[in-house]
Amino acid sequence: MKEGKLFVLSGPSGVGKGTVLKELLRQKKDIVFSVSATTRAPRPGEIHGRDYFFLKPEEFKKGIEENRYLEWAKVHNHLYGTPRDFVEKTIQSGNHIILDIDVQGAKQIKEKCPSGVFIFLAPPSLEELARRLDKRGTDSCGEKKTRLQNALREIEEKKGFNYVVVNDRLQKAVDQIRKIICQEEGSS
Ligand code: ADP
Ligand code: 5GP
Repeated sequence: MKEGKLFVLSGPSGVGKGTVLKELLRQKKDIVFSVSATTRAPRPGEIHGRDYFFLKPEEFKKGIEENRYLEWAKVHNHLYGTPRDFVEKTIQSGNHIILDIDVQGAKQIKEKCPSGVFIFLAPPSLEELARRLDKRGTDSCGEKKTRLQNALREIEEKKGFNYVVVNDRLQKAVDQIRKIICQEEGSS
């Protein structure tokens, strides 16, 4: 059976990865979302198993020891990781999968899965990124500062990606990513 393709969507916190993906997955039902594990606390409305697997630090670390993550990284003071089994089984069963992960994780995946497709979602400007973090209203002042400081470093990494999409107008960014995925599916 033909294997599915692995897609990675990365970019700074607050750029709109979650929002873009939600809309993309609503429009395109033949791609599976990889639910990550994290040690950060759930935000209002987030559901364990749908948005993230919310784990205690000791549970997460046990997963590292048992090699249960395809990649993992410390992002903005919390641990995040991609459960390996789910990704491998999805691809082996011929389905496409998309990961929403930070640039450190994307680098690790690129080494392990060079045939993956790596998409960087960029903000129209740093000012707009700060506005979006404010608008989301889920992060403390300190968290927002960390996320903005990290954004500068993360944006420098965009050159390592196959595609860069600017999330200016939401629907335009979704359309661009959908087209990239359809094109890459066709070439697989
Ligand atoms: P990320 O998953 O990258 O951390 P989110 O999806 O949580 O980012 O989006 C951060 C904030 O930006 C949210 O309030 C979201 O509604 C808003 N947002 C996302 N995309 C756009 C856009 N194209 N234009 C304006 N606001 C946006
Ligand atoms: P948030 O806390 O805003 O949901 O996510 C913070 C950052 O962690 C985002 O950049 C998101 O893409 C990233 N992230 C989410 N899941 C994973 C993962 O499994 N691995 C890595 N490396 N980063 C992740």
